[in-house]
Amino acid sequence: MINQKTYKIRGMHCASCANIIESTLKKEEGVESIEVNVGMETAKIAFDETKTNVTKLTKKIKPLGYSFVVEKMEGMDHSEHTGMKMSKSEKIAELFDMKVKIMTALPLALISIFVMSWDIFGAVGMVPVMSIFWKEFFHHLLPILATYMLFVVGKPYLLGLYRFFRYGKANMDSLIGLGTSVAFLYSFVVGAFEESLRPFLNVDNTYFDVVIVVITFITLGKYLETRSKLKTGDAIEKLLTLQAKTALVVRDGKEVEIPLSEVVHGDIISVKPGGKIPVDGIIVSGSSYVDESMITGEPMPVQKKENDLVVGGTINTTGAFVFKATKVGEETMLAHIIKMVEEAQGSKAPIQALADKISAIFVPTVLVIAFLALFGWILFGAGILGFSKALSLGLVSFVSVLVIACPCALGLATPTAIIVGVGKGAKEGILIKDATTLQKLHTINTVVVDKTGTITKGKPEVVSIKNFSEKSDSDIISILASLESKSEHPIAHSILTYANKINLAVKPPSEFEAIKGKGVKGEVDGVEYFAGNSKMIEGLALPFDSKLIEKETLEGKTPIILTTKQKVLGVIMVADSVKQEAKESVARLHSLGLKVIMLTGDDKNTAEYIAREVGIDEFFAEVTPEGKLEKIKELRTKGSIVAMAGDGVNDAPALAVADVGIAMSTGTDVAIESAGITLLNGDIGKIAKAIKLSHLTMNGIKQNLFWAFAYNIIGIPIAAGILYPFFGIIMNPVFAGGAMALSSVSVVGNSLRLKSKKL
Ligand code: ADP
Ligand code: MG
Repeated sequence: MINQKTYKIRGMHCASCANIIESTLKKEEGVESIEVNVGMETAKIAFDETKTNVTKLTKKIKPLGYSFVVEKMEGMDHSEHTGMKMSKSEKIAELFDMKVKIMTALPLALISIFVMSWDIFGAVGMVPVMSIFWKEFFHHLLPILATYMLFVVGKPYLLGLYRFFRYGKANMDSLIGLGTSVAFLYSFVVGAFEESLRPFLNVDNTYFDVVIVVITFITLGKYLETRSKLKTGDAIEKLLTLQAKTALVVRDGKEVEIPLSEVVHGDIISVKPGGKIPVDGIIVSGSSYVDESMITGEPMPVQKKENDLVVGGTINTTGAFVFKATKVGEETMLAHIIKMVEEAQGSKAPIQALADKISAIFVPTVLVIAFLALFGWILFGAGILGFSKALSLGLVSFVSVLVIACPCALGLATPTAIIVGVGKGAKEGILIKDATTLQKLHTINTVVVDKTGTITKGKPEVVSIKNFSEKSDSDIISILASLESKSEHPIAHSILTYANKINLAVKPPSEFEAIKGKGVKGEVDGVEYFAGNSKMIEGLALPFDSKLIEKETLEGKTPIILTTKQKVLGVIMVADSVKQEAKESVARLHSLGLKVIMLTGDDKNTAEYIAREVGIDEFFAEVTPEGKLEKIKELRTKGSIVAMAGDGVNDAPALAVADVGIAMSTGTDVAIESAGITLLNGDIGKIAKAIKLSHLTMNGIKQNLFWAFAYNIIGIPIAAGILYPFFGIIMNPVFAGGAMALSSVSVVGNSLRLKSKKL
């Protein structure tokens, strides 16, 4: 049995960690695939349960400094709940621990920087040279401080170095561990054998101060990075807090408060003014306005009355009502959203592939460069500069290269931006399935929209009747309503609603068939009837002059032609109003440089009217559902990159063949996993927002990657001393440490900037 689960990982901090875990576990028997996400600190593993298990796998990575948190990250049960919280509180504890270390490290670093500056400014005559007394004092003080720094504050780096020697696997910690311990050891040896080494070396030149300052900087950088990383993931935290803790259930006529987990299907739940709606359900009595902004991003409270759907996690305003629970636990909309956001945040964007490839060889490459620099200086420098000087330059370069190299910046560049981008989307009611979709969306140049329910409200109403028969208008509507009583189409709803309103009899048809994209046919009182658009009656070869209904269709009304096999009985006109925001939204898509195409099964004239009204570039009318699918395929083969927006149920096949499928959800009843993007509350204005979000996220990623690559490509050679032969400049390891600390912090910071951008 192949088992695929996502586990939280403890002990990770950069891209090379991900590589180490991936490469170690891939080799394990039974492991089918593994994908580690640095930003989320999770691993998605598929493994054969008969061959291995999590405990076994944990054993493999434990010596390398990592472990799996065993609660699986699925569903919303309580163990998982606490699991999530635990890992967050653990994170906060870790952060606190780091803070304490920094508090002790900072004063020591300040002392070292003070001594360094005194040395430097003294040498150029800007301040008086240090007296023998102070020289001796610091000469003895700094080794003590450096020992504390290396073995207490710098312990994670020493452990990294240990793991490198023991298991041959290096990560960023190993690099820093190696750099700082070499600097420390060298200084220690020079200090201990000062007199015997004096003829060969400049024994006054030690690097205890470097050890102190570098470790402080890097620890500080890590602290800031961890703190910001915590902020990138707060969208999920926020969603989790939406969940109510209890529900007020009506049992035996009394209201009792029970824990959320005990609510079952069919429970009657009472919601008081200002109360939180605990699960999804249907209102049975009462009415109110409900604030759904936390789920849909829509700021205006929505009116809810009997038979309306309510969603768990939303908040009631001033009214009161009672509703029946229809979805509980993992089935609720909120649970689905949380799961989807979690999975999307943990997925890898294609753009990350290059960074991943480089991260995999990054650490070994840096090690090689560091040693090349060290030996290069000694071999080639000694002849020109003398051994002592060449050795010290070699050491400085060695330490600087190890310390400045930052695989973290590379590793964090993509996932942090994805996490923030996906989270920001969720806040606006834009649910993104995975990172690949988010990336693809910014390349879109054509947006195809379905008319009904996307451009229009999808709630047509009967507006007029043309009667061509001897029957009365009511008879005609009655027949049509009977036919439509078996149909699911919005048009059918409109007819039935109308028939109900004027109290007409509706009998179920004895034979019934729905013909997709055309209409319906069936038998009522022994007579066969057909109802639908002009395509529907094409096959019947009836004399019907479409001029008769031209006036109405040109006004955007949809004709439903009712016929028998022999004769057209009448035409019922329904009209579906255009969504308020449609025109503005189309204009926004245009301003993003996109072409907007409308597809509809509706009448040509009707479609043209609507297309003109909202400013659509091109439209195709009277297309069947298969025709929609073909149209998308055709656009794609012609080179367009197509996003298709439609309702997730009827248009699912067309959504599936588009580059990005955008499902417009209108309520709680949608399978939100069905499309690449789901827009809650069916607002087409969100299409432009989603595309903008994709652009912003991709820009963030590109900036991050550019910065991370440039930083390493420029930083490492300078640290190796490439500028020295030309300008006499060598990089102080202290500077390298500072740069390294800044680099990953700035990448995470840049990703966080996305949060405040307007969509
Ligand atoms: P769209 O979603 O673009 O409106 P559909 O494929 O759902 O397209 O429907 C296309 C057309 O077929 C409708 O505009 C209508 O004219 C006709 N039609 C479909 N179903 C029915 C129905 N149940 N009753 C009457 N007409 C229908
Ligand atoms: Mg439709």
